[in-house]
Amino acid sequence: MNYQLILDEVAEEVMSLKNKGKVANYIPALENVDIEQFGMSITLFDGTEYSTGNANTLFSIQSISKVFTFTMALKLYGTDLYKRIGREPSGNPFNSLVQLEYEQGIPRNPFINAGALNVTDSLLSHYHNSINSSNAIFKFIRDIASDNSITYNKNVALSEMDHGFRNIALANLMKSFNNLDNEVDDVVKTYFKHCAIEMNTKMLSRAMLYLANHGVDPINGIRYITEEQAKRINAVMLTCGHYDASGDFAFHVGLPGKSGVGGGIVVVVPKKMGISVWSPGLNSQGNSLLGTKALELFAKKTGLSIF
Ligand code: GLU
Repeated sequence: MNYQLILDEVAEEVMSLKNKGKVANYIPALENVDIEQFGMSITLFDGTEYSTGNANTLFSIQSISKVFTFTMALKLYGTDLYKRIGREPSGNPFNSLVQLEYEQGIPRNPFINAGALNVTDSLLSHYHNSINSSNAIFKFIRDIASDNSITYNKNVALSEMDHGFRNIALANLMKSFNNLDNEVDDVVKTYFKHCAIEMNTKMLSRAMLYLANHGVDPINGIRYITEEQAKRINAVMLTCGHYDASGDFAFHVGLPGKSGVGGGIVVVVPKKMGISVWSPGLNSQGNSLLGTKALELFAKKTGLSIF
Protein backbone atom coordinates (compact mmCIF):
# COMPACT_ATOMS: atom_id res chain seq x y z
CA MET A 1 0.00 0.00 0.00
CA ASN A 2 1.39 3.44 -0.92
CA TYR A 3 0.81 5.17 2.43
CA GLN A 4 2.65 8.36 1.43
CA LEU A 5 0.42 8.85 -1.58
CA ILE A 6 -2.71 8.18 0.48
CA LEU A 7 -1.64 10.64 3.23
CA ASP A 8 -0.88 13.36 0.66
CA GLU A 9 -4.26 12.81 -1.02
CA VAL A 10 -6.04 12.98 2.33
CA ALA A 11 -4.22 16.23 3.21
CA GLU A 12 -5.13 17.81 -0.09
CA GLU A 13 -8.77 16.81 0.19
CA VAL A 14 -9.26 18.10 3.73
CA MET A 15 -7.30 21.31 3.22
CA SER A 16 -9.62 22.23 0.35
CA LEU A 17 -12.61 22.21 2.72
CA LYS A 18 -13.89 25.72 3.42
CA ASN A 19 -15.12 25.09 6.95
CA LYS A 20 -12.13 24.36 9.14
CA GLY A 21 -13.99 24.60 12.46
CA LYS A 22 -13.14 26.82 15.42
CA VAL A 23 -9.97 26.93 17.48
CA ALA A 24 -10.45 26.23 21.21
CA ASN A 25 -10.84 29.59 22.91
CA TYR A 26 -11.31 28.74 26.59
CA ILE A 27 -7.75 29.88 27.28
CA PRO A 28 -5.82 32.60 25.39
CA ALA A 29 -2.76 30.36 24.93
CA LEU A 30 -4.73 28.03 22.63
CA GLU A 31 -6.82 30.70 20.94
CA ASN A 32 -3.88 32.16 19.00
CA VAL A 33 -2.99 29.01 17.03
CA ASP A 34 -3.21 29.40 13.22
CA ILE A 35 -6.25 27.42 12.04
CA GLU A 36 -4.79 26.75 8.56
CA GLN A 37 -2.53 23.96 9.80
CA PHE A 38 -2.86 20.25 9.21
CA GLY A 39 -0.43 17.43 9.89
CA MET A 40 -0.76 13.66 9.85
CA SER A 41 1.64 10.79 10.55
CA ILE A 42 1.58 7.03 10.72
CA THR A 43 4.26 4.81 12.26
CA LEU A 44 4.47 1.13 11.35
CA PHE A 45 5.76 -1.68 13.59
CA ASP A 46 9.23 -1.65 11.99
CA GLY A 47 9.54 2.07 12.76
CA THR A 48 8.85 3.29 9.23
CA GLU A 49 7.04 6.59 9.44
CA TYR A 50 5.04 8.47 6.80
CA SER A 51 3.89 12.04 7.26
CA THR A 52 2.17 14.86 5.46
CA GLY A 53 1.64 18.57 6.17
CA ASN A 54 2.68 20.16 9.49
CA ALA A 55 3.86 16.91 11.07
CA ASN A 56 6.82 18.58 12.80
CA THR A 57 4.80 21.33 14.47
CA LEU A 58 4.39 20.93 18.21
CA PHE A 59 0.87 21.38 19.61
CA SER A 60 -0.85 21.06 22.97
CA ILE A 61 -1.84 17.41 23.38
CA GLN A 62 -4.48 18.22 26.04
CA SER A 63 -6.82 15.26 26.56
CA ILE A 64 -4.62 12.90 24.55
CA SER A 65 -2.44 12.86 27.68
CA LYS A 66 -5.30 11.06 29.44
CA VAL A 67 -4.48 7.89 27.48
CA PHE A 68 -0.97 7.93 28.90
CA THR A 69 -1.93 8.68 32.51
CA PHE A 70 -4.66 6.00 32.33
CA THR A 71 -2.04 3.53 31.12
CA MET A 72 0.26 4.41 34.02
CA ALA A 73 -2.49 4.13 36.62
CA LEU A 74 -3.74 0.82 35.23
CA LYS A 75 -0.22 -0.55 35.38
CA LEU A 76 0.14 0.56 39.01
CA TYR A 77 -3.29 -0.37 40.37
CA GLY A 78 -4.68 -2.98 37.95
CA THR A 79 -8.42 -3.53 38.14
CA ASP A 80 -8.57 -1.84 41.59
CA LEU A 81 -8.61 1.39 39.59
CA TYR A 82 -12.20 0.61 38.59
CA LYS A 83 -13.31 0.90 42.21
CA ARG A 84 -12.99 4.66 41.76
CA ILE A 85 -13.55 5.21 38.01
CA GLY A 86 -16.02 3.62 35.61
CA ARG A 87 -15.58 2.66 31.98
CA GLU A 88 -18.83 3.62 30.34
CA PRO A 89 -19.42 6.49 27.90
CA SER A 90 -20.82 9.46 29.78
CA GLY A 91 -23.25 10.87 27.20
CA ASN A 92 -22.56 14.23 28.86
CA PRO A 93 -20.11 17.03 28.07
CA PHE A 94 -16.52 16.19 29.09
CA ASN A 95 -16.48 18.72 31.91
CA SER A 96 -19.99 18.11 33.27
CA LEU A 97 -20.61 18.18 37.02
CA VAL A 98 -24.18 16.88 37.03
CA GLN A 99 -23.57 13.17 36.44
CA LEU A 100 -20.77 13.14 39.01
CA GLU A 101 -23.20 14.34 41.66
CA TYR A 102 -25.81 11.70 40.76
CA GLU A 103 -23.24 8.93 40.70
CA GLN A 104 -21.68 9.64 44.11
CA GLY A 105 -18.41 11.09 42.87
CA ILE A 106 -17.44 8.08 40.71
CA PRO A 107 -16.56 9.43 37.25
CA ARG A 108 -18.00 7.50 34.31
CA ASN A 109 -14.66 6.89 32.58
CA PRO A 110 -10.98 7.95 32.66
CA PHE A 111 -11.32 10.25 29.64
CA ILE A 112 -13.88 12.75 30.88
CA ASN A 113 -12.26 15.45 33.00
CA ALA A 114 -13.45 14.07 36.34
CA GLY A 115 -12.07 10.63 35.47
CA ALA A 116 -8.76 12.03 34.28
CA LEU A 117 -8.43 14.12 37.44
CA ASN A 118 -9.09 10.99 39.46
CA VAL A 119 -6.41 9.09 37.51
CA THR A 120 -3.96 11.95 38.19
CA ASP A 121 -4.89 11.72 41.88
CA SER A 122 -3.99 8.02 41.91
CA LEU A 123 -0.61 8.83 40.32
CA LEU A 124 -0.02 11.52 42.95
CA SER A 125 -0.68 8.98 45.70
CA HIS A 126 1.89 6.65 44.23
CA TYR A 127 4.59 9.20 43.40
CA HIS A 128 3.96 11.24 46.60
CA ASN A 129 3.99 14.73 45.10
CA SER A 130 3.25 16.78 42.02
CA ILE A 131 6.86 17.10 40.83
CA ASN A 132 7.59 13.38 41.03
CA SER A 133 4.26 12.55 39.37
CA SER A 134 4.85 15.01 36.54
CA ASN A 135 8.36 13.69 36.04
CA ALA A 136 7.06 10.12 35.90
CA ILE A 137 4.43 11.16 33.33
CA PHE A 138 7.06 12.96 31.22
CA LYS A 139 9.38 9.96 31.43
CA PHE A 140 6.66 7.54 30.36
CA ILE A 141 5.67 9.70 27.38
CA ARG A 142 9.31 10.25 26.34
CA ASP A 143 9.85 6.48 26.51
CA ILE A 144 6.86 5.45 24.42
CA ALA A 145 7.52 8.22 21.89
CA SER A 146 11.24 7.46 21.99
CA ASP A 147 11.97 11.17 22.21
CA ASN A 148 13.65 12.86 25.16
CA SER A 149 12.90 16.38 23.98
CA ILE A 150 9.21 16.19 24.95
CA THR A 151 8.14 18.73 27.55
CA TYR A 152 5.18 20.97 28.46
CA ASN A 153 4.23 24.57 27.79
CA LYS A 154 4.26 26.56 31.03
CA ASN A 155 2.03 29.34 29.66
CA VAL A 156 -0.68 26.85 28.71
CA ALA A 157 -0.52 25.18 32.13
CA LEU A 158 -0.71 28.52 33.98
CA SER A 159 -3.49 29.77 31.76
CA GLU A 160 -5.48 26.56 32.45
CA MET A 161 -5.01 27.18 36.16
CA ASP A 162 -6.31 30.76 35.81
CA HIS A 163 -9.44 29.45 34.05
CA GLY A 164 -9.73 26.14 35.86
CA PHE A 165 -12.92 26.79 37.83
CA ARG A 166 -14.81 23.79 36.49
CA ASN A 167 -11.95 21.31 36.90
CA ILE A 168 -11.38 22.59 40.41
CA ALA A 169 -15.11 22.15 41.07
CA LEU A 170 -15.00 18.56 39.74
CA ALA A 171 -12.03 17.75 41.97
CA ASN A 172 -13.77 19.28 45.00
CA LEU A 173 -16.94 17.33 44.28
CA MET A 174 -14.99 14.05 44.15
CA LYS A 175 -13.21 15.04 47.36
CA SER A 176 -16.60 15.54 49.04
CA PHE A 177 -17.46 11.93 48.09
CA ASN A 178 -14.11 10.68 49.44
CA ASN A 179 -12.99 9.82 45.93
CA LEU A 180 -9.89 12.04 45.84
CA ASP A 181 -6.98 11.37 48.17
CA ASN A 182 -4.69 14.34 47.56
CA GLU A 183 -5.10 18.10 47.82
CA VAL A 184 -7.32 19.54 45.08
CA ASP A 185 -4.68 22.12 44.22
CA ASP A 186 -1.99 19.46 43.69
CA VAL A 187 -4.30 17.31 41.58
CA VAL A 188 -5.41 20.08 39.22
CA LYS A 189 -1.88 21.50 38.88
CA THR A 190 -0.49 18.09 37.91
CA TYR A 191 -3.42 17.51 35.56
CA PHE A 192 -2.97 20.85 33.79
CA LYS A 193 0.72 20.19 33.41
CA HIS A 194 0.19 16.91 31.57
CA CYS A 195 -2.55 18.46 29.42
CA ALA A 196 -0.03 21.17 28.46
CA ILE A 197 2.53 18.70 27.08
CA GLU A 198 3.48 19.52 23.50
CA MET A 199 4.11 16.93 20.81
CA ASN A 200 3.78 16.65 17.05
CA THR A 201 2.02 14.00 14.97
CA LYS A 202 5.28 12.11 14.32
CA MET A 203 5.92 11.69 18.05
CA LEU A 204 2.30 10.77 18.78
CA SER A 205 1.96 8.16 16.05
CA ARG A 206 5.14 6.53 17.41
CA ALA A 207 3.78 6.75 20.96
CA MET A 208 0.67 4.73 20.01
CA LEU A 209 2.59 1.62 18.97
CA TYR A 210 2.50 -0.08 22.38
CA LEU A 211 -1.30 0.06 22.27
CA ALA A 212 -1.41 -1.25 18.69
CA ASN A 213 0.79 -4.17 19.76
CA HIS A 214 -0.90 -5.55 22.90
CA GLY A 215 1.22 -3.56 25.35
CA VAL A 216 4.67 -4.18 23.84
CA ASP A 217 6.64 -1.58 21.89
CA PRO A 218 7.21 -3.43 18.59
CA ILE A 219 10.41 -1.50 17.83
CA ASN A 220 12.42 -2.14 21.00
CA GLY A 221 10.44 -5.00 22.55
CA ILE A 222 9.71 -3.19 25.84
CA ARG A 223 6.49 -4.32 27.52
CA TYR A 224 4.67 -1.39 29.14
CA ILE A 225 1.45 -3.09 30.15
CA THR A 226 -0.21 -6.49 29.87
CA GLU A 227 -2.05 -7.60 26.77
CA GLU A 228 -5.28 -7.53 28.74
CA GLN A 229 -4.70 -3.93 29.86
CA ALA A 230 -3.86 -2.78 26.33
CA LYS A 231 -7.08 -4.35 25.08
CA ARG A 232 -9.08 -2.52 27.75
CA ILE A 233 -7.48 0.86 27.01
CA ASN A 234 -8.28 0.44 23.32
CA ALA A 235 -11.86 -0.47 24.20
CA VAL A 236 -12.25 2.66 26.35
CA MET A 237 -10.74 4.76 23.54
CA LEU A 238 -13.28 3.32 21.11
CA THR A 239 -16.26 3.93 23.37
CA CYS A 240 -15.22 7.14 25.18
CA GLY A 241 -12.33 8.71 23.24
CA HIS A 242 -14.13 11.49 21.41
CA TYR A 243 -16.34 13.22 23.95
CA ASP A 244 -19.97 13.07 22.89
CA ALA A 245 -19.01 12.10 19.34
CA SER A 246 -17.44 8.75 20.29
CA GLY A 247 -20.25 6.78 18.64
CA ASP A 248 -19.94 8.87 15.52
CA PHE A 249 -16.18 8.34 15.37
CA ALA A 250 -16.59 4.56 15.73
CA PHE A 251 -19.26 4.67 13.04
CA HIS A 252 -17.23 6.70 10.52
CA VAL A 253 -13.63 5.70 11.28
CA GLY A 254 -13.99 2.33 13.04
CA LEU A 255 -10.74 2.52 15.01
CA PRO A 256 -9.95 3.26 18.69
CA GLY A 257 -8.74 6.82 19.21
CA LYS A 258 -8.53 9.78 21.55
CA SER A 259 -8.85 13.46 20.76
CA GLY A 260 -7.85 16.64 22.58
CA VAL A 261 -9.06 20.23 22.37
CA GLY A 262 -5.66 21.26 21.00
CA GLY A 263 -6.88 19.66 17.75
CA GLY A 264 -4.84 16.47 17.97
CA ILE A 265 -6.17 12.92 17.61
CA VAL A 266 -4.35 9.63 18.16
CA VAL A 267 -5.57 6.36 16.68
CA VAL A 268 -4.56 2.73 17.00
CA VAL A 269 -4.72 0.22 14.16
CA PRO A 270 -4.33 -3.07 16.05
CA LYS A 271 -1.37 -5.16 14.89
CA LYS A 272 -0.46 -2.59 12.23
CA MET A 273 0.34 1.02 13.14
CA GLY A 274 -0.09 4.13 15.24
CA ILE A 275 -1.68 7.20 13.67
CA SER A 276 -1.86 10.83 14.70
CA VAL A 277 -3.49 13.79 13.03
CA TRP A 278 -3.61 17.45 14.01
CA SER A 279 -5.53 20.47 12.86
CA PRO A 280 -6.53 23.04 15.49
CA GLY A 281 -10.03 23.88 14.20
CA LEU A 282 -12.64 21.95 16.20
CA ASN A 283 -16.15 20.80 15.31
CA SER A 284 -19.12 21.47 17.58
CA GLN A 285 -18.26 18.45 19.76
CA GLY A 286 -14.71 19.62 20.41
CA ASN A 287 -12.90 17.22 18.05
CA SER A 288 -10.57 18.40 15.28
CA LEU A 289 -12.82 18.94 12.27
CA LEU A 290 -10.22 18.29 9.57
CA GLY A 291 -8.56 15.63 11.73
CA THR A 292 -11.76 13.60 12.03
CA LYS A 293 -12.46 14.01 8.31
CA ALA A 294 -8.89 12.96 7.45
CA LEU A 295 -9.13 9.81 9.55
CA GLU A 296 -12.42 8.92 7.91
CA LEU A 297 -10.85 9.34 4.46
CA PHE A 298 -7.71 7.42 5.48
CA ALA A 299 -9.76 4.51 6.86
CA LYS A 300 -11.81 4.43 3.68
CA LYS A 301 -8.86 4.56 1.29
CA THR A 302 -6.84 1.94 3.17
CA GLY A 303 -9.74 -0.27 4.24
CA LEU A 304 -8.32 -0.24 7.78
CA SER A 305 -10.93 -0.78 10.48
CA ILE A 306 -11.41 -3.12 13.41
CA PHE A 307 -14.80 -4.12 12.07
N1 GLU B 1 -7.18 20.86 29.81
C1 GLU B 1 -8.47 20.71 29.23
C2 GLU B 1 -9.53 20.77 30.31
O1 GLU B 1 -9.38 20.12 31.29
C3 GLU B 1 -8.52 19.42 28.48
C4 GLU B 1 -9.67 19.45 27.58
C5 GLU B 1 -9.62 18.40 26.51
O2 GLU B 1 -8.67 18.29 25.72
O3 GLU B 1 -10.62 17.69 26.44
O4 GLU B 1 -10.51 21.46 30.19
